[in-house]
Amino acid sequence: MSTPVTYYCPHCETVVELEREGYLADKSVTPYPLEGWEYVAADDDYERERIDGVRFQCGEDETTRDPDADGCGRGFYLSFVRHGTTDAGRALGKR
Ligand SMILES: [Zn+2]
Repeated sequence: MSTPVTYYCPHCETVVELEREGYLADKSVTPYPLEGWEYVAADDDYERERIDGVRFQCGEDETTRDPDADGCGRGFYLSFVRHGTTDAGRALGKR
């Protein structure tokens, strides 16, 4: 079962929405990628293994919640919690 989760563009606060399967923890939304992390586009298969996050193109992909919202066209990055690299990730590993 997938659940829509919303995020704000850090540049213009347009709301984007992503369907998420099951439980995946989010670490942060940033206007830049974290170094060494693997991102895929929001319409790619972001649930697969070894993907660390999703790259949004504000207003230019299909994720904008309000279809009339233009967005700012800039990119931003949703980073998942990596297992084992943070306190939150370690907690996930114990589940
Ligand atoms: Zn934006």
